[in-house]
Amino acid sequence: MILDNHPFQTNKRGHLEIGGMDSMELANKYGTPLYVYDVSMIRENCRAFVNTFKELDIKAEVAYASKAFSSIAMLQVVKQEGLSLDVVSEGELYTALQADFPVEKIHMHGNNKSLSELEMAISHDIGCIVIDNFLEIEMIENLLKKYNKTIDVLMRVTPGIESKTHKYIMTGNEDSKFGFNLQNGQAQEAFHLLHNHKSIRFKGLHCHIGSQIFETGSFVMATKVLFEHIAIWNEQDGFVPEVLNLGGGFGIRYTGEDSPLSLHTFVEELVQSVQYHASDLNIPLPEIWVEPGRAIVGNAGITLYTIGAVKNIPEIRNYISVDGGMTDNLRPALYGATYEAVLANKADYKPVNTTSVAGKACESGDMLIWDLPIPEVDNGDILAVFSTGAYGYSMANHYNRIPKAAVVFVENGNDTLVVRRETYKDVVKNDLSYSEEKIEM
Ligand SMILES: *Cc1c(COP(=O)(O)O)cnc(C)c1O
Repeated sequence: MILDNHPFQTNKRGHLEIGGMDSMELANKYGTPLYVYDVSMIRENCRAFVNTFKELDIKAEVAYASKAFSSIAMLQVVKQEGLSLDVVSEGELYTALQADFPVEKIHMHGNNKSLSELEMAISHDIGCIVIDNFLEIEMIENLLKKYNKTIDVLMRVTPGIESKTHKYIMTGNEDSKFGFNLQNGQAQEAFHLLHNHKSIRFKGLHCHIGSQIFETGSFVMATKVLFEHIAIWNEQDGFVPEVLNLGGGFGIRYTGEDSPLSLHTFVEELVQSVQYHASDLNIPLPEIWVEPGRAIVGNAGITLYTIGAVKNIPEIRNYISVDGGMTDNLRPALYGATYEAVLANKADYKPVNTTSVAGKACESGDMLIWDLPIPEVDNGDILAVFSTGAYGYSMANHYNRIPKAAVVFVENGNDTLVVRRETYKDVVKNDLSYSEEKIEM
């Protein structure tokens, strides 16, 4: 049964339960499509990272990559759990400030940070900027002069590792828009600009090799490559990194095909590989930073949809259409991401058919799931898609002028609306008119 692949249960009425609530009640109360998060699972995921480092007695920082799902309520939960935060834009930084997130725990990323983004970061004294390119070094220098400030930075490098994941979410390979290339000397050049800088406090290196990774091998390889360069810089310039940031990318289960490692195992193996290289080089163990996004929120979120048209094309395929799709979950259309789902109101029924789940947008590519095993479907049934907590709401869009769905947090049997459903007024709120007078001019 599909439900066995996911950390959710049915209640006495045979309905899918989320955070102690009947999902059907949530669908009735808030309407669909609806993103629902089990907040206790978000907390568990945060604690799995933090506690593993604690148990291993390692100085570490766990930064939630807020691009996976950013909203004021979400960032408040992250703050309550004591994590740090990654932002990649002014909008994400603005959200963090609105959530009163401690600025010293905010790190800024991005391969094309604008002057105003950097200015916002520096003027608010955020904790760290992860430098991606030469232009950025120049802009940061000028801003630090203007504000008479200093700031901690890491240098993002590409270790030339091809992680086993989709090309669109692979980021550590040499041919990448992110970071300084270690192989061709560009990282070396940047290192010399940053090392012993007066106002830019160069703390160490950052690499993020990709997303939805299921094995520790790529991380271990990346660590090895980083240390090959650290060894050179240590010998030539006495460089000792205070921080090594190994990025995010820890895989989660979307379908029964995915078998993620426990977060504990993941963290433990990363730590061991850093420990090995640091002691080999005879330098103190740097602080280890990680940046999970998906692994914090992915499996804690479910999307509820109402099923409309049911279309059976004999000998070809069965389709059901839902009241959302690529507008609330772009991942299947963007890079063929796979999901599993059950009928929330028939969660304990055995599948008797297979059907494919289509979105309502005018694109043949707007398919959420191909060939899903499913019980007899009736119009009006509620479909619950699992593991939609990451890169769902954060990639939502207005294609076909479909308003963005609402987000509800559930914890210990209590439900709270944390992002309201958009109205049609919201959809046209930036539209201005172009009157006939313009033609006569
Ligand atoms: C996207 C990203 C992350 C988070 O990736 P997940 O797969 O969600 O864990 C972390 N760090 C950087 C630099 C990223 O770009």
